[in-house]
Amino acid sequence: MITLKSPLQIAAMRRAGALLYEVLQTVKDAVKPGVSTLALNDLAERLIRNAGAEPSFLGYEGFPASLCTSVDSRVVHGIPSAEEILREGSIISLDCGLVLNGWQADSALTVPVGRVSDEMLRLIRVTEDCFFAGAREAAAGHTIGDIGQAVADTAHAAGFTSVRDLTGHGIGREMHEEPTVYLYGQAGHGLRLRGGMTIAIEPMIAAGDWHVDEEDDGWGVVTHDGSPASHYEHTLAISDGLPELLTLPGYVWKEDA
Ligand code: MG
Ligand code: MG
Repeated sequence: MITLKSPLQIAAMRRAGALLYEVLQTVKDAVKPGVSTLALNDLAERLIRNAGAEPSFLGYEGFPASLCTSVDSRVVHGIPSAEEILREGSIISLDCGLVLNGWQADSALTVPVGRVSDEMLRLIRVTEDCFFAGAREAAAGHTIGDIGQAVADTAHAAGFTSVRDLTGHGIGREMHEEPTVYLYGQAGHGLRLRGGMTIAIEPMIAAGDWHVDEEDDGWGVVTHDGSPASHYEHTLAISDGLPELLTLPGYVWKEDA
């Protein structure tokens, strides 16, 4: 079932989104060579709880942490560990969710560890471009296929591929609600979007082939060919025009793109 949110409910989600933005910016600034992924998790969890919110990943279907930390060829759902120490030249996806006053926010970004190759930086930038291309399509009257095609076309134009086995999702009282927000598709096809829908668009872009494998811990997802992957996600509210990015407060769309 798809739940449409009222302006008051979207205002509550905006507060959750703004808090998550602050949390992720602080965790992002803590990324450097020598830091463990568990230290990043603990920082995220402390920031969330200190603000009076709850980490929504912790315990979700048994997930053991508050932050997903996915390094290099790991696409998503990496479990933070004291033994996993960040090394110069890697990239790491930081994916976090929280619930504030009953409303969820979910966002991810990928950051370089120290100095990284130009190709890694391009992968990160293109993944963000994929998000914005998809989000630009997220208007009332458009379709899920409009978003998916925009994401995948942007990846392909850059020589990368869009992972198909994982998706974005509706979000609200629950972290994962309907509809499924595919990262590929055909413009004009699929569910039609309506004002008041709140969704998370989260491109997962591989430098090589998009096929992925699940790791033995039952959570981690890695590219089958071992190529690096990047992830970028925001929670957004759909209206007649361009969407509001609830986890990127103050973002103003440029109308000319
Ligand atoms: Mg997420
Ligand atoms: Mg998500």
